Amino acid sequence: LPDPDVAALTGRDVDGLLPRPGGESDKYRRGVLGVAAGSDLFTGAAVLAVGGALRGGAGMVRYAGREAPVAQVRAQWPEAVVTLLDEPSIEHVGRVQAWVLGPGLGTDAWAHELAARVLATDVPVLVDADGLTLVSRDPGLLRRAAPVLITPHAGELSRLIGADRAAIEAARLEHARRAAAELGVTVLLKGSTTVVAEEGRPARVNVTGTPWLATGGTGDVLSGLAGALLAQGLSCYDAASCAAFLHGVAGGLAADGAPLAAADVATAIPAAMRTVAEAA
Ligand code: AMP
Ligand code: MG
Repeated sequence: LPDPDVAALTGRDVDGLLPRPGGESDKYRRGVLGVAAGSDLFTGAAVLAVGGALRGGAGMVRYAGREAPVAQVRAQWPEAVVTLLDEPSIEHVGRVQAWVLGPGLGTDAWAHELAARVLATDVPVLVDADGLTLVSRDPGLLRRAAPVLITPHAGELSRLIGADRAAIEAARLEHARRAAAELGVTVLLKGSTTVVAEEGRPARVNVTGTPWLATGGTGDVLSGLAGALLAQGLSCYDAASCAAFLHGVAGGLAADGAPLAAADVATAIPAAMRTVAEAA
């Protein structure tokens, strides 16, 4: 018998949820996403998150960071509006409708201060990667009124809820639900199968994807894509579910039975959207 607390998401559902621009749209109203990611050691995560966001349909992406990732994002994505941060502050970044916080950000005091500023805003925040390490060390950061979507793999979730990684792998749905309830956030738990959990909603188990996605940087692309959907007004629950679905389809298109690089997944996101539209 099907579990009433688990809902399958179809390509038709995703197609119905995806925002599309109309005649009245302009870039600001299509969704402006802030990206706080990357560090001198990890510049690629910033580039990949911005790429996922641009291909995910954000009207504008505002990237804010330190010198090395700023140079890389500027070089790779002339479409992004880039702010070099002298201090860990977002006051000069401009208005955004959602933030992606954490890929490659680092976990030093500077990163912690930036995370605190981003989480002190009143817009939805997606927290991933180093952002998750920062909030696992300082859980008070998650006390905010606006929605939070976290996108951990099992190792990141284990640090957040103090559970054994193997126990999480053995019961992914249960641990995602527990984390959602304990932390008061929406959880997208990544891995060979991805699950989305939020209190009071049926968990969603993603059916798309390919093991070729198990390569560095694909999670950063997913964060940018989900962030773009948040900025366009989807709830954390729908943004997470649609992003997981499309990321899996994009991975399949990019790999087509052979290795992919994470940037290929970002490039394939529009084709993934066309695929779900044609199947609907
Ligand atoms: P991260 O752990 O942040 O690097 O993200 C890795 C991405 O690849 C996530 O979207 C995972 O769901 C996906 N992924 C990792 N391993 C597999 C696998 N064996 N099969 C399908 N997807 C995977
Ligand atoms: Mg990751």
